[in-house]
Amino acid sequence: MRPLSSGLHLRALHLLLAFCTPVTSQCPNGDQTCRVLASRLPDQVTFPGDEGYDASLSSYAYLQQQTQSPSCVVKPTSAAEVAFILDVLRESPSTTFAVRSGGHATNRGFSNIDGGVTIDLGSLNKVDVHDDGVTVSVGTGATWGHVYPVLDAHNRSLNGGRASDVGVGGFLSGGGIGFFSLEHGFGCDAVVNMEVVLSSGDVINANATSHRKLFKALKGGQNNLGIVTRWDLTTVHVPEGRIWGGTLVYPTTTTDEQLEAFTNWKTGADFDPRASAEQSHVYIGSMDQFLVATSLHYTAPVEFPESLRNFTAIQPQWDSTLRIAPVAEFAAEVQAQSTPNQYSIFATTTIKISPTILKTVHALWQDSVRHLSSGATVTSSMTLQSLPAPPPADEPYRENSFGFDPSSTPQKDDVLVLISNFWDDPSVGVGTRVREAARRFIASVDSAAEAEGLAKEFKYMNYAGAGFQSPLESTGQLGFLRRVARCYDGVGMFQRQAVGGWKFDV
Ligand SMILES: Cc1cc2nc3c(=O)[nH]c(=O)nc-3n(C[C@H](O)[C@H](O)[C@H](O)COP(=O)(O)OP(=O)(O)OC[C@H]3O[C@@H](n4cnc5c(N)ncnc54)[C@H](O)[C@@H]3O)c2cc1C
Repeated sequence: MRPLSSGLHLRALHLLLAFCTPVTSQCPNGDQTCRVLASRLPDQVTFPGDEGYDASLSSYAYLQQQTQSPSCVVKPTSAAEVAFILDVLRESPSTTFAVRSGGHATNRGFSNIDGGVTIDLGSLNKVDVHDDGVTVSVGTGATWGHVYPVLDAHNRSLNGGRASDVGVGGFLSGGGIGFFSLEHGFGCDAVVNMEVVLSSGDVINANATSHRKLFKALKGGQNNLGIVTRWDLTTVHVPEGRIWGGTLVYPTTTTDEQLEAFTNWKTGADFDPRASAEQSHVYIGSMDQFLVATSLHYTAPVEFPESLRNFTAIQPQWDSTLRIAPVAEFAAEVQAQSTPNQYSIFATTTIKISPTILKTVHALWQDSVRHLSSGATVTSSMTLQSLPAPPPADEPYRENSFGFDPSSTPQKDDVLVLISNFWDDPSVGVGTRVREAARRFIASVDSAAEAEGLAKEFKYMNYAGAGFQSPLESTGQLGFLRRVARCYDGVGMFQRQAVGGWKFDV
């Protein structure tokens, strides 16, 4: 047992935990473990009814996780405390736990839990730019709203979340698609070192020269291999510390032009990796209103770049926020457009672009909305965006576990389709119906793409829907992840005890 300060020995811990076993069923899952944690970390452990417990729960983005009830929430302030928490949990194998950074996962139980222990990493949120002015160390519990302003001041940036409240930990361990992705790949590709706490309680650094396989596996392995406590990343230069972008809102009379603009942008001869577009086709149930909202960004202070003229030329526009501004402002804007504190489901697929496929996808989405709109008040958004560039073969530190060939060009050829549905009604029937609609929509897009030879396996884990999607399998890297997990988590703690999230059998 590692000494936390004066050292609680393994034997003492065994004795404490022995008072309550799952066999006697006298203690709900987690209660006794929480008491042990509270005895050693009294300021970091909160219980139902405590202000800190309520604050942690209400800071999840969506109701499906806000409404879960862990036996306690433990909020470590250092990697050593995370190690101590894992030591305690290892000695109490019947206690399940959840790992939470920003709490933006849309699948219930991915970063919160009923009974058991929630490890809330929100206090590990330091952001330090190194003396070289290029590398930044980011605590896993920071949000992108913490990170961007620090980097903006140095004329640097990262491929972080496009909404400021998204957490660093889940985003980077699941990949991460940001404003710079068409040029610089997934957010995790910029990571040069991770501080990781293993199930053994050891705190190690994983990078391209030390624990290289773990380093690669954690870029897409999420909570299956360890808990990352700090990410060191190499930033990109942003001229004048500002980029161009914003959101255009249009009526649905422009839908055909919108789909054509997106198709032309994807298939045009002059690919410009600085330009990105996320085109959302939105139905707002409470107003029975459809609209199109397209977010455009250009990673330099260049107004109305030629490569995005397909979109900016479309008229009429109901609203436009296009301007030159620091990255932090754009992330705050996307955050303000999001609709937290409701129930939500995200689901996703990837297809190859063709001249006509987006019209088919849009028609399938409209069909899905027609079914949804009879009954509950649901907001549904179908967003089209590009995949990131793959990591180049000659930069080993950038490899990730998504399985893209370095010579492939998914940023040009493929479209990521995201369906996100939001609703307020807590009834089980409504939730089931909305989730089922998302599942059916994705299945119908996959079938249509398959029929036209445009289907792709890849399902992006940060957008995938639990219960019907398998993002880890979709990368073809499962065998590799299993081998790394066996090596670094021999007891299978992250498979058996960390029950939420994308899992595989070791
Ligand atoms: C409004 C909104 C906007 C979004 N925008 C984008 C976007 O622009 N680009 C994009 O790619 N995605 C985006 N996402 C998806 C987002 O990337 C994922 O939801 C991501 O997992 C959130 O990270 P988090 O830390 O907030 O999540 P959490 O809910 O805290 O964690 C998500 C998962 O990661 C695991 N995890 C968290 N921290 C660690 C850690 N330190 N070590 C190991 N495992 C860990 C958790 O156990 C959990 O399974 C968005 C989501 C929302 C709701």
